[in-house]
Amino acid sequence: MPTLKETPSEAEIVSHRLMLRAGMVRQSSAGIYSWLPMGFRVLKKIEQIVREEQDAAGAQEVLMPTIQPDDLCRESGRYDDYGKEMLRITDRHDRDMLYGPTNEEQITEIFRASARSYRDVPLMMYHIQWKFRDEVRPRFGVMRGREFLMKDAYSFDLDRAGAERSYNKMFVAYLRTFARMELTAIPMKADTGPIGGDLSHEFLILADTGESEIACHKDFTTADLAKWDLDPDGDLQSVVDDFTAKYAATDDKRDPEAEKALGDDLVVGRGIEVGHIFYFADKYSKPFNAKVQTPDGEEALVHMGSYGIGVSRLVGAIIEASHDDDGIIWPESVAPFRIGLLNLRSGDEKVDAACTDIYDKLTGAGQEVLYDDREERAGAKFADMDLIGLPWQIIAGPKGLEKGTVEIKNRKSGEREELSVESVLAKLTG
Ligand code: ATP
Ligand code: MG
Repeated sequence: MPTLKETPSEAEIVSHRLMLRAGMVRQSSAGIYSWLPMGFRVLKKIEQIVREEQDAAGAQEVLMPTIQPDDLCRESGRYDDYGKEMLRITDRHDRDMLYGPTNEEQITEIFRASARSYRDVPLMMYHIQWKFRDEVRPRFGVMRGREFLMKDAYSFDLDRAGAERSYNKMFVAYLRTFARMELTAIPMKADTGPIGGDLSHEFLILADTGESEIACHKDFTTADLAKWDLDPDGDLQSVVDDFTAKYAATDDKRDPEAEKALGDDLVVGRGIEVGHIFYFADKYSKPFNAKVQTPDGEEALVHMGSYGIGVSRLVGAIIEASHDDDGIIWPESVAPFRIGLLNLRSGDEKVDAACTDIYDKLTGAGQEVLYDDREERAGAKFADMDLIGLPWQIIAGPKGLEKGTVEIKNRKSGEREELSVESVLAKLTG
């Protein structure tokens, strides 16, 4: 955990600065990062929440490769359309390959190879895999990388009604996913590109450092997602209707008339896109001729949608949403460890023994504890612990332990309490 006291000069935004200072990542080359232990643990926690909510929505996890042959993307036309953002590679046999920017073609090919009838749909599959886009201007650390981790899901349905149901499942899964990370991610009408249609939403969290300009009804900014009963198997349409009834739009979807009508209820600001869901009908099933037999024995192109979440971008986005002057404030659900244990006098027999005992009991009860037993000044330990932002701190020093007490601090509220060791264990494992 190579923490830094100084602010790295190359970092323009707070999340990037804090990720470098907390020793979470190390840049390998522009927009490409190594994930160090602290960063990697957060990335895995986020990935796991995303996975659980995809599973709950009925999507099945698969894993497709990062390197794709060129022929599939030539079939869809994307090989030529994508331009320089697509990293093209030639193998030793002079065959064109590419590092996948997403996987629509591959998944459609997998579907086409085995699905035959309406009984094979609805079908949703997803994977969580590294992507590469040779962005012109990688910046803001993991927020706009060239290599980044994305969850991309794909749905296959017989008709538009079925596709809308799949879309709604993902819509609700996204609300649940971001709520578990304590983020207010606002679903906003988004551009659907050349295919048209009205079914595309981007999920954005508000932040001054966001790259997208957005406008929305002010109610979204105060929305309490916890009050929504978001049952993944419930009446999804009514949830989607509730969330889309009020105005919220990104750049090109903004509507001056609607905004004028909102008056004081309008909020204009900037946002970070953390997810994007998209219904695109037969855009890929048509060139791939991905058809199934309908109940009347006809053949029909399947209706598809794709659904992305920026898993590695979320690490930065959560920090943008949750930090103070001293450092990161991790929500419990994604914290690299739940508890930090500070030994204020490493090397002192009694303090060491008490800390080892606390550590063993907490980890024995299934808690994730980071034990700072370095021989550093107390001030440096406090600063590092605040910087890395674990939800709870247990501060153990010789004075308190004389009386059998330690201090416990909540990183978010700043509240401190002096408690007996037993009460601390009870509080944190109860
Ligand atoms: P952007 O508009 O930010 O370039 P996009 O619309 O091109 O993103 P999608 O194709 O919708 O991205 O990808 C799905 C998700 O992947 C995005 O919502 C975002 O969270 C994430 N993502 C996209 N590009 C990057 C990147 N360069 N670095 C990190 N995450 C990214
Ligand atoms: Mg997008």
